[in-house]
Amino acid sequence: MILLDGNQLSKTIRKEISDKVRNFCQTDIRPPHLAAVLLGDNPASEAYVRNKIKACEEVGFASTLIKKPASTTEEELLEIIYKLNTDNQIDGYIVQLPLPRHINEDHVNLAINPEKDVDGFHPNNFGRMALGLPAFHPATPAGIMMMLDRYGIETEGKHCVVLGRSNIVGTPISLLMSKKTKPGNATVSIVHSRSENLIGFTRSADILIAALGIPFFVKEDMVKSGVVVIDVGINRIQDPSAPKGSRLVGDVDFDGVSRKASAITPVPGGVGPMTITALISNTWDAYKRKQF
Ligand code: NDP
Repeated sequence: MILLDGNQLSKTIRKEISDKVRNFCQTDIRPPHLAAVLLGDNPASEAYVRNKIKACEEVGFASTLIKKPASTTEEELLEIIYKLNTDNQIDGYIVQLPLPRHINEDHVNLAINPEKDVDGFHPNNFGRMALGLPAFHPATPAGIMMMLDRYGIETEGKHCVVLGRSNIVGTPISLLMSKKTKPGNATVSIVHSRSENLIGFTRSADILIAALGIPFFVKEDMVKSGVVVIDVGINRIQDPSAPKGSRLVGDVDFDGVSRKASAITPVPGGVGPMTITALISNTWDAYKRKQF
């Protein structure tokens, strides 16, 4: 069984990016610059943004964190976005989700300059991705594709079952896996809360991508031998034996499923770091496209 180690692979890819930054920015050319907008003090969101900023430092990017209270109005947030759109020093930026309830996520996504949309959520990028045109791909699916590619996982002709159809994970990874690309060329099934015979699908999967947000949802008896499992879920569960009284787990029962899998991602340390690496890679692309 191969452990698809997102930490290790991220280290390798980030080193490649930091080498490119060092070579490219030898003279007085400024390095790439990623900004992150964070509203409120959701601890999980704060941790994600912290990790993104840390990754920027690791590869030699500049970064800016714009932190505002949860009471920030939609108008105020759009004002910040318009400034970022026209700031020549910023190559790409993200608006950390989830947003407070009073803010319409669609309005925010539509306001982002597609050329700086390194999270790949703007309809321009999403549509271009669906058409197979150059675009920023959403970071989590992009990170999964990088992982399949670098580990040499064969996807062509395989049955890929995606659990979940969200706009940020399930739907875009389904599209990417079905494209005439490598990795890709898979036969894709998307399974969601209204699907009948879910287990029938999971048991026939050669590649199973779980993005539901339900701890330990996928059990050993739901998969076949040799399956490749990509666990996107990040769920915090109570665990009195853990130092903080809780710990992060995926949507897959790792201990059981790993007995049958030919390759599997751990949680944490699988898709999570790859998501950040894909964001860094998108930011490098935004920088290169824009400046030179
Ligand atoms: P959403 O809640 O937006 O989507 C969940 C999807 O799962 C929906 O399509 C839903 O179906 C489906 N679903 C829920 N329950 C069932 C069920 N019992 N049977 C079948 N389908 C079901 O979640 P996200 O896609 O945003 O995130 C999924 C998980 O991935 C979360 O744990 C999240 O924290 C994690 N995540 C991890 C990232 C990373 O970097 N590793 C990045 C982003 C997310 P329906 O559409 O019918 O409601």
